[in-house]
Amino acid sequence: MPNENTVAINLAKVQERIRSAALKAGRPADSVTLLPVSKTFGEEAIRAAVQAGVHRFGENKAQEIRSKYEPLADCGIDWVMIGHLQSNKAKDVARMASEIQSLDRMDLAVALDRRLQQEGRAIDALVQVKTSTEPSKYGLPAEELPGFLRQVARDIPTLRIRGLMTLAINAADQAAVRACFRTLRELRDQMRNEAIDGIELDRLSMGMSGDFEIAIEEGSTEVRIGTAIFGGRIYGDDYYWPEQPAVR
Ligand SMILES: *Cc1c(COP(=O)(O)O)cnc(C)c1O
Repeated sequence: MPNENTVAINLAKVQERIRSAALKAGRPADSVTLLPVSKTFGEEAIRAAVQAGVHRFGENKAQEIRSKYEPLADCGIDWVMIGHLQSNKAKDVARMASEIQSLDRMDLAVALDRRLQQEGRAIDALVQVKTSTEPSKYGLPAEELPGFLRQVARDIPTLRIRGLMTLAINAADQAAVRACFRTLRELRDQMRNEAIDGIELDRLSMGMSGDFEIAIEEGSTEVRIGTAIFGGRIYGDDYYWPEQPAVR
């Protein structure tokens, strides 16, 4: 369990690395947002980050947002869903999340819309696109993106699409990782050219602890960082992507 001080120090270090990666890429220092990922970490670690000025956290399981929501209600946190979501768990996200970055299929959009209508809410959404050839990665196939965006813009009023999200290939090969990020940026540019009514793709959520500097070079506007802030998790990445071995 990281102590309060460690979290604050790690946050400052990560912020600094983000700023310098942006500058090095010829981009403004403040053009990349940090989304701290608090999955598997408890109240204490999250409160330490809140103390250090963070009020927005990524979680990859609906159950985990639900279990942290009440105990941390006094912190005014915006919870961001970044993991695979089964449609039957849409209710918790519709009630408690301020945003979803893992929107990857129509049945999920429909389930979220039904629950969001009941809650009288609308939330921001990023579409998670599959950019690697790994068979187990979740995400919408790139070729389905234009049709998907049009359908959400037309039929799903409660999801405001703001951009795209991806997970790069889990590999030591930096060129392969970079190719995933580049694919997402190029897709975003193509989609912008198609100018789909009601869809603005300002945001590209890409990059994690092990690869965020590459993602920033490739145009990321938001990096999702867990390990570099909170430390190692008890469960490895194979726990989150169960079908594939952790090789990073
Ligand atoms: C866990 C997770 C992250 C953060 O991973 P780290 O390597 O710990 O920085 C980012 N995105 C998603 C979707 C995750 O599940």
